[in-house]
Amino acid sequence: MDALEKVFEQIDQSWDDEVKFLQQLGRFPSTLGNETATQRFLANKFREMSLETDEFIPDVKKLSSLPGFSAPEWSYDGRPIVVGKLPTKGPKQGKSLILQGHIDVVSPEPMRLWDYDPWGSTIEGDRMYGRGLCDMKSGVAAMIYAVKAIQDAGIELGADVLLETVYEEECTGNGALATLQRGYVADGGLIPEPFGPTALKAQVGVIWMRVRVTGAGSHVNIANQSVNAIEKSYILIDALKKYREYINYTKPKHEAFKDVDHPLNVNIGIIKSGDWASTVPADCMFEVRIGLYPDQDPQEIKDEVKAWLLEAAAQDPWLKEVQPEITFYGFHAHGVNLEENLEVYSYLDAAHHKVYDSEMKYLATTATTDVRFYNLFYNIPMTCYGPTGGDMHGANEWVDLTSVREVTKVYAAFILDWCGIRK
Ligand SMILES: [Zn+2]
Repeated sequence: MDALEKVFEQIDQSWDDEVKFLQQLGRFPSTLGNETATQRFLANKFREMSLETDEFIPDVKKLSSLPGFSAPEWSYDGRPIVVGKLPTKGPKQGKSLILQGHIDVVSPEPMRLWDYDPWGSTIEGDRMYGRGLCDMKSGVAAMIYAVKAIQDAGIELGADVLLETVYEEECTGNGALATLQRGYVADGGLIPEPFGPTALKAQVGVIWMRVRVTGAGSHVNIANQSVNAIEKSYILIDALKKYREYINYTKPKHEAFKDVDHPLNVNIGIIKSGDWASTVPADCMFEVRIGLYPDQDPQEIKDEVKAWLLEAAAQDPWLKEVQPEITFYGFHAHGVNLEENLEVYSYLDAAHHKVYDSEMKYLATTATTDVRFYNLFYNIPMTCYGPTGGDMHGANEWVDLTSVREVTKVYAAFILDWCGIRK
């Protein structure tokens, strides 16, 4: 039996274990700021696997000077990033590798739309349901069990492998940036985002914006003399819808997204105002996520959208005088158009063919991932490839378990080839 067959056999043998591990991962409600228990659980797993395990707290001061940093509005105290290193024994014979996955998940609200407990990891047929199981705890389980299978098969790799679990992929990317700041680099990498057995070739950039509109509140009996901040916000929201049309259909499309109908989503994600049906609200706040193309600078897009909104405000007698307050926080993310001959692609393609008969597809995504830091600022070729699932960020998120098993094998084949087997 050759090394690959041995490893595949290990993956099949430990499959029930991998499913149980994924269920456990899915039961942690690891939303923003609540990742610690998950990270401790993973650090223990890495120690069990005899990996050199590092748990560390990101240093915002040091991060803030690095390219790609996004300003958070919260603290990193007590929230570890976890890295487990499987060091090669002896001089390097292959290429070193980063396998990185995020364990932060978005809120499952509104809960009433779920048919399953979002933290229950319910299995039904070939699917496992729960928040974050698709995006992307299944990928995290797969990357860990691929490495574990190689260890259990008694194979020594020719170069180091780093298993990294991070957070804030969904809002800043600072978890990934913190691993790089701490010195964890390698010759290449893979992020098991759930794009299916499909390699990422391009992704948009993302910025987050907050708009505060001030009105003139009062009792509703003189509502005609007051200014309703919710109604004034409509003017700016309408302007944003026009901006969305403009950036998608008037401005030229980026080459990498030419087959995507609407690459740059502009999403009003939060709106907050008012506390009484009979009071005219004096303020309204809404937050927006805005996509941008790989060759655009997030700062330029911030300036552009701000100017767009202020111009719309200038058309309204009230907003012209009481200007909306426009600020930015969270995502300050560049888009990425990966090189066509990225070194990891040929290895991934070969590994893909050891499991699938079909060709490996490529994806230009209208979302962002952590690969941007590695490729843009650290010269580490990195792509995404992962399990198949659906309803990410929505109710009844699920992952296809067969796909998890298959991509575990693809990762294992990739690792053996990329890192090499020690002779
Ligand atoms: Zn994700």
